[in-house]
Amino acid sequence: MPDALPIADLADRVRAGDRRALAQAITLVESTRADHRDQAEALLATLLPFSGQGVRVGITGVPGVGKSTFIEAFGLHVIACGHKVAVLAIDPTSQRTGGSILGDKTRMELLSRETRAFIRPSPAGSTLGGVARRTREAMLLVEAAGFDVVIVETVGVGQSETAVADMVDLFLLLLPPAGGDELQGIKKGIVELADMIVVNKADGDLTNAARHAEAEYRHALALLRPANRNWPVPVLSCSALNKVGIDGIWDRINEYRRLLGHDGSIDRRRADQARAWMWNEIRENLIAAFQGDHAVRTELSALEQATAAGTVTPGAAARRLLGLFRGADR
Ligand code: GDP
Repeated sequence: MPDALPIADLADRVRAGDRRALAQAITLVESTRADHRDQAEALLATLLPFSGQGVRVGITGVPGVGKSTFIEAFGLHVIACGHKVAVLAIDPTSQRTGGSILGDKTRMELLSRETRAFIRPSPAGSTLGGVARRTREAMLLVEAAGFDVVIVETVGVGQSETAVADMVDLFLLLLPPAGGDELQGIKKGIVELADMIVVNKADGDLTNAARHAEAEYRHALALLRPANRNWPVPVLSCSALNKVGIDGIWDRINEYRRLLGHDGSIDRRRADQARAWMWNEIRENLIAAFQGDHAVRTELSALEQATAAGTVTPGAAARRLLGLFRGADR
């Protein structure tokens, strides 16, 4: 990346829908270099007024449930309806492997060939918060570039669902056509985050199992209080492979947007998300500053060891380090 990017020029090109500029802009917001961060902030500030028009859909589900097959079918459908779709991802496992699985173009070959689609894999990073922040910022950039349907994908493991649910308008949980005991395996916390549940693979030999699962999920959901009383969480089914039921899901998403747009719920949700995000940023930055602080570093590992050994209480160690950080003991 060139050192001094003309930010105004880059912003103009992003707004014109220039894909190379968009990719470059996302690389800039993903960079951890301090000077890049300043440029990224300037770019985001310029483009923020042109973002926000998109329908933001989060999609989660365990590996193998059919996320990439679904996103490809769904993406092609919304393109056929006249939209432009961006697919972003948050993959917490890529932190460990260094690579990224989600949002991989080879998993969505047909969609990646579409000029009206933009696919960006998960950024790598050392913390989920950092990875999520960069995806959130990428979301603003793709919206400014004219992508009016933004899909954020994540796997159904770890904490990443909360991060995704915190940045989208609608969170869709994709479930397998499993019955009985397997239903118990779904983490309740994830079900509670969902604004829509879709049972995938409702085709061939799995058709009956899918219908059965759909009924069971519907029954289970009836026992939960919906987060929004105007929107009882629907349970639908589809075959991503055969592209059956995809149009119905898109219709329901639009219905959700209309309904929650009318009563101001979407605006409130986004306002809450923005506020939560600010605090997230504060936490991340404070921790980074704390860990990078010279005075803290002189005693950090000794105090960590003393805490682990039980010779100092965690509370006392934390107070000592925070005192050093604030300069009280300097
Ligand atoms: P992901 O790991 O969640 O992204 O899942 P994939 O999209 O890679 O799909 C996992 C496997 O399930 C692949 O072999 C797909 O062909 C298959 N699959 C995905 N959607 C469907 C579907 O609607 N019906 C059937 N029968 N198989 C599907």
